[in-house]
Amino acid sequence: MVSSTQMTVPFLDLGAQLGAIEADIKQAIDRVIAAQSFVLGPSVEQFEEHFAAYCAIRYALGVSSGTAALHLALLACGIGPGDEVITTAHTFIATCWAITYAGARPVLVDVDPETLTIDPQRIPAAVTARTRAIIPVHLYGQPADMDPIMAIARQHRLAVVEDACQAHGARYKGRRVGSIGDIGCFSFYPGKNLGAFGEAGAVVTDDATLAAAVRTQRNHGQAQRYHHDLLGFNYRMDGIQAAVLNVKLRHLDRWNSRRRAHAHTYDALLAACPGLRLTHQRGDSESVYHLYVVRSHRRDALRAYLAEQGIDTGIHYPVPIHRQPAYAELGYAAGDFPITEEACVTLLSLPMYAELTPLQVSYVAQAVWQFQTWQTTGQGDRATRDARVDDRERQNRLWRV
Ligand SMILES: *Cc1c(COP(=O)(O)O)cnc(C)c1O
Repeated sequence: MVSSTQMTVPFLDLGAQLGAIEADIKQAIDRVIAAQSFVLGPSVEQFEEHFAAYCAIRYALGVSSGTAALHLALLACGIGPGDEVITTAHTFIATCWAITYAGARPVLVDVDPETLTIDPQRIPAAVTARTRAIIPVHLYGQPADMDPIMAIARQHRLAVVEDACQAHGARYKGRRVGSIGDIGCFSFYPGKNLGAFGEAGAVVTDDATLAAAVRTQRNHGQAQRYHHDLLGFNYRMDGIQAAVLNVKLRHLDRWNSRRRAHAHTYDALLAACPGLRLTHQRGDSESVYHLYVVRSHRRDALRAYLAEQGIDTGIHYPVPIHRQPAYAELGYAAGDFPITEEACVTLLSLPMYAELTPLQVSYVAQAVWQFQTWQTTGQGDRATRDARVDDRERQNRLWRV
């Protein structure tokens, strides 16, 4: 039970984001309804123009999801059956679905223990004669270390498809993610930093040939209506989603900088917290903190304690790709990616979104401290902890009277 003196901190609060922009969004949706242009059309073209400018890249193409973006990007790069694509064992599974949809085989690499993004030093050992592409994932909003990845790709003539589905607006050495590799992929799933009112995604590239292939294949493979040059898909973006995204894109940098401010507060408050490991941020990059992730060896108990304090948390992700039954066919075993495996049992995502208040951030940090201190001062057994919680509840009751 959450007592009345406690705060409630949801994991994500999309309602709070809507407040100030709701009228603008409704107007934009009304314009799509008036124009009756529900699939592609002017609002999608406008979004493509604005999003390309935002990413400082020539082409942006609206598609139906981040997964569709990754699938189309791989197809545009010519990836198909018999090919291998290198990515990380620590990602959302859609990164790998796209490889499988293209008919290729995901080859997994472990992550860097500090940043939890793909470890470039481990990539060369995974390259074979069949390797055609690398998909670095800008996990949690932090750019993967792109320079060494690009160097390996150039050396072996591999395409680089950036999975920027969690990193809209993040920068690597000053450059926006998505614009560094050959082609970049974004998701606008509602909970992402830039979220639609349903499913949506985008592919960005500087390469006119890749852009043309994506443009054709997202729309039934037709460059001209009812003339199908390539295998096609129905992967088009909705007009209404583009209308919503057009309004939200104007606020993205402000929202991202608020996320960064909250992350810096968490960092400062939790730096010395016993038994807690923060996610290291490389100094050459600017993360957009899609998630704020810490690691604790008492993760599940910490999570339960935070829930008792009214704080919602998440786990991204509890099961690595190579331990998913759907990917048993890849033939990996437990222990193949030890850093990823350890992360999966220790990591915890704390509440993170622009509209968090400083008071909420310090309340969360304080609750984390409280639990971690009990764990490391020999007072961590359940009975002592329960006694303390009871004690506080008694005080709360007294206080309410
Ligand atoms: C969200 C996400 C995707 C998939 O995006 P959808 O729009 O849900 O299809 C792919 N990769 C990563 C890393 C993601 O976080």
